[in-house]
Amino acid sequence: MKIVRIEAATVWVDLVKPYITADYPDGMKGKPCVIVRMTTDSDLSGLGESDPFPTFTYESPESVLHMIRHRLGPAILGMDPGNLVALHTKMDAVLPGWSFAKAPLDVAAYDILGQAWGVPMYMLLGGKLRDQVPMIWPIGGDTPETNAREAKAKVDDGYRSIHIKVGALAAEVDIARVERIRATVGDDIPLMLDANQGWDRTTALRTIKRLEISKPSMVEQPVPAWDIESMVDIQASVGVPISADEVLHSHHDAMNLIRRDAARVFSLKTGKCGGLFRTRQIAAMAEAAGIPCFVNSMIEMGVSVMTSLHLAASIPNLVDHGHALMSNLRIKEDILPAGSFQYEGRNILVPEGIAGLGVKLDMEEVEKRTLDHFVLEL
Ligand SMILES: [Mg+2]
Repeated sequence: MKIVRIEAATVWVDLVKPYITADYPDGMKGKPCVIVRMTTDSDLSGLGESDPFPTFTYESPESVLHMIRHRLGPAILGMDPGNLVALHTKMDAVLPGWSFAKAPLDVAAYDILGQAWGVPMYMLLGGKLRDQVPMIWPIGGDTPETNAREAKAKVDDGYRSIHIKVGALAAEVDIARVERIRATVGDDIPLMLDANQGWDRTTALRTIKRLEISKPSMVEQPVPAWDIESMVDIQASVGVPISADEVLHSHHDAMNLIRRDAARVFSLKTGKCGGLFRTRQIAAMAEAAGIPCFVNSMIEMGVSVMTSLHLAASIPNLVDHGHALMSNLRIKEDILPAGSFQYEGRNILVPEGIAGLGVKLDMEEVEKRTLDHFVLEL
């Protein structure tokens, strides 16, 4: 089997509600995502999606499109999509780093392999350990009252854990927001906090110690990704697990974090970590180090959500609360047809009886939203 065609597009997505985080203090209203379709000489085609934010990842949707068109695509045309280790070795040789550009090619290759073998993608990741995964609901920056109202509504709606963005507003406001949410939802709902690199070491230490009274399940990326030294100090000084997100792109990053004991949760995103092959390696390294993984998301459409669902189904060492598999629920219109996902309450069901990724695109929606597009052929 040979890769004979790679097609990629940037596709605009609108959010239901502007999302305020430390890297988007004015609120993100929408963004482009990248969709890739890879086709083989046996006429199988696979899908992949990539969702970088330049402030978070150093990569952008435009740079992903450029690198696939000019570096990665030409390097892997003609290769066997089933030979995943060779595919990654080749991509790493022509372009070290650039995980968000590699990820959709990796996922499309897994999708093709699953279809060729007639098995769901999670079987290629080692199999599945669960039939459903609870979802967490993310809450961006706002007043304590508004945030507490939203958290209460989501818990009433069935969510059993809440992800709270901190680090964009003054520390006093964040502390008040988290305390108010905790008082409103009660002690049984895990609250994970995510500062998106928004604090320096001193602010992080001072703020996390004051936040501990609200019993957060973890605090993600309190300081900038380059500041591992401070993460080590913070993890050693506070009682709450620190989660590594922006600092964890590659298996090399994972090794460094484990060696330094810089984080006690790993935040996995299939785009950020370079696709399923590398993300599964990182999860295995975390498992060996006794570190649980949180299956996280960017602002994503359904192809990425389904990819992460296959991943979450296969990982033994998951954090014991909800995972960020709700990304398509906060965008106005997905490029997948309605009914592409099945739910039981606020748990998302792992698909059965599918081959590969198990989703199809709504081509009318894709065309309506396409900003830029190219095709490479062997
Ligand atoms: Mg994060």
